[in-house]
Amino acid sequence: MTANLLDFDLEGLAAFCEQLGEKRFRAVQLFRWIHQKGAANFADMTDLARSLREKLPGVCTIADLPVLSRQDSTDGTIKWLFDVGDGNAVETVFIPEDDRGTLCISSQAGCAVGCRFCSTGHQGFSRNLTTGEIVAQLWHAEHFLRRHLKKGGERVITNVVMMGMGEPLQNYSALVPALRVMLDDHGYGLSRRRVTVSTSGVVPMIERLALDCPVALAVSLHAPNDALRDDLVPLNRKYPIAELLDACLRYLPAAPRDFITFEYCMLDGVNDQPEHARQLLELLKGHGERGVPCKINLIPFNPFPDSGLTCSPRPVVLRFGQILNEGGVVTTVRKTRGDDIDAACGQLAGDVLDRTNAASRLAQRRETTARPIRIVRKERQA
Ligand code: SAH
Ligand code: SF4
Repeated sequence: MTANLLDFDLEGLAAFCEQLGEKRFRAVQLFRWIHQKGAANFADMTDLARSLREKLPGVCTIADLPVLSRQDSTDGTIKWLFDVGDGNAVETVFIPEDDRGTLCISSQAGCAVGCRFCSTGHQGFSRNLTTGEIVAQLWHAEHFLRRHLKKGGERVITNVVMMGMGEPLQNYSALVPALRVMLDDHGYGLSRRRVTVSTSGVVPMIERLALDCPVALAVSLHAPNDALRDDLVPLNRKYPIAELLDACLRYLPAAPRDFITFEYCMLDGVNDQPEHARQLLELLKGHGERGVPCKINLIPFNPFPDSGLTCSPRPVVLRFGQILNEGGVVTTVRKTRGDDIDAACGQLAGDVLDRTNAASRLAQRRETTARPIRIVRKERQA
């Protein structure tokens, strides 16, 4: 089988080159051609020995993902729909801002976690993406954008967030080499602070990430107590909030930033009341000896068909944020970008061949669970 060179971090490429009888510095050259210059053809790699240039096409490829569609928002946001085969498609979103360019990357076709408020979760799960498919989203977007936005070879994407489709920490073995390609000075050279893994809370993998490749961590919290979080983020039943916060505390010494970002999706009448905010403050400030150093990012819920949920009204979001800020936890409200092309958080739906029946399971849950505003407190000890 021919290898896809996008599947390799630099170490992997060096091992591959070694098998071909090539020295390590050839791997560095090759890696730079692919990731820094965006070369897709070996013939273009003029400083590689001719013998190697001729050998490579027979044993490997640089496999781009086929583009099913590209949509450009009026605010500059760009969304790609990539074909990953077997009826599956994943989405990637570029979000330009004054001082940065962020790429939001998918890690799976679908997602098995099945959060109530997430369009990807409603679609169910098909499969993990390979390292090559994760890296190809960056490779394709960066070199497309360089060609279209800028004249020179200047870098366009300065930040990566693993916040597209899928739960990155449920695809750990493919994720880590992809992160290494992003960080490598011979690759995209992104600093650890500018690469963020967002997770719904796969506790054991948070611990492994601290050892293998500590990048910025965002945790999708969405609720201040287990009863509510069990309902919104089903993974909470396996890894409840206290365990998740412990994992965050253990992650911090290795993290490139001295805080964890908590994401909190604002759902009208579900988790958005002042009492929830106060409970959240209590939770985060009261955990461990000195609380969990963190920032909170409130995400206004982005609706999608059949979710059965609506976004909290703006004044409610602002009031919630104010309570948190006044309570000493820095809180921001995420701007919605790419709304006109359904590229906002949680709207990424791609097209997934559901192998888990998630859609019908979620429909069932919607019918059987009421949605009262549940504020559950632990009994305090006298
Ligand atoms: N699976 C990972 C990363 C992908 S989701 C995770 O859950 O963290 C990226 C972020 O978008 C998460 O915080 C997620 O909770 C949020 N999100 C999902 N659906 C959303 C929606 N409909 N509106 C707003 N945010 C949403
Ligand atoms: Fe999966 Fe994240 Fe969506 Fe939950 S919010 S279903 S973990 S992609």
